Amino acid sequence: MAQVEVRGISKHFGEVRAVDHVDIATAEGEFLVLLGPSGCGKTTLLRMIAGIETPTSGDILIGGQVVNNLPPRARKIAMVFQSYALYPHMTVFRNIAFPLKAQGFPREEIPTKVEWAASTFGIEKLLHRKPRELSGGERQRVALARAVVREPSVFLLDEPLSNLDAKLRTSARDELQQFQRRIGTTTIYVTHDQVEAMGLGDRIVVMKGGKVRQIGTPQEVYNEPSDTFVAGFLGSPPMNLLEREDYIAGFRPEKFLPVSVYDTGEPLVKLWLVVHRVEHLGADRLLYGIMRDTFPNEKVIVNIPSTVDLKIKTGEAQEFAVKEKDIKFFDRSTGLRIEPRRFWGTR
Ligand code: ATP
Repeated sequence: MAQVEVRGISKHFGEVRAVDHVDIATAEGEFLVLLGPSGCGKTTLLRMIAGIETPTSGDILIGGQVVNNLPPRARKIAMVFQSYALYPHMTVFRNIAFPLKAQGFPREEIPTKVEWAASTFGIEKLLHRKPRELSGGERQRVALARAVVREPSVFLLDEPLSNLDAKLRTSARDELQQFQRRIGTTTIYVTHDQVEAMGLGDRIVVMKGGKVRQIGTPQEVYNEPSDTFVAGFLGSPPMNLLEREDYIAGFRPEKFLPVSVYDTGEPLVKLWLVVHRVEHLGADRLLYGIMRDTFPNEKVIVNIPSTVDLKIKTGEAQEFAVKEKDIKFFDRSTGLRIEPRRFWGTR
């Protein structure tokens, strides 16, 4: 395993600044997730680390060494893409063995290596099959086994689970995380799915427009977003953002609950909410409402676990509250986090 670092890295395609002065350093053995909307530069950054895209400027270091001029092969990295092309005419065994053969690994040692990689992903019984005889999830595991067989120092994954259905994705995510913990290879994982990022990452790098907006643990980026973009991108439904004259106040949908729920001495901010619609999602209930007594049409979403037994009447104003400490403040013009302000609830 090795530490990966990018220093002041940029990539311009003509006018497009796909990656714009990015500084990131992983810890050794860390699972780092690059998260952001489509087009924010995640894949370009990963491709530069892999060595298949040349940076416009900046340095890439692997294990403390600048690798800018090293070809992909010499970087000791393995990359798995969304379209994990397996060789259709080869068996699973030969697919996994391929990178070993290509690098001239001793022939007699290949079967042991392949079996190790296959058993890591629980596909040792499928070694004789061809890719077309496998399910999507099994093919995914073959691609991952093929990537780890050379025991890379760094693992680069670009949305590797996006071809799987929702259920399989959850189990593949779990498998991938267990595997990564077991072998401890530094991993950089690209996704636009915040649930995946929160579930997998030791830390998350939130990107937008080629720039890093925040780097932190899942709890940090969720609970202490550095700007309104991060606040809105993480969490579903996202943070409620209420605009005031010179600031924006934000609170999470699950932190805004009927006053009766609180039996705490902590300071609360109370607001009247008229609920218009209730959505039952199984484990949760989402309430869509409008703030009475504040600026007109200020829409708010509330998330109440179904286990909380509460009668919610639609069309009537009810008093809700949020703990003062759960309100985050942002500058209205820059969107950046600012020191807490005095926030008036009801007039
Ligand atoms: P997605 O999640 O959709 O894959 P991404 O965050 O991985 O998006 P990139 O693929 O890194 O984004 O692209 C970043 C920006 O650079 C986009 O605006 C894209 O159009 C542009 N771009 C990427 N590759 C090229 C290229 N070869 N030539 C020109 N522009 C490119």
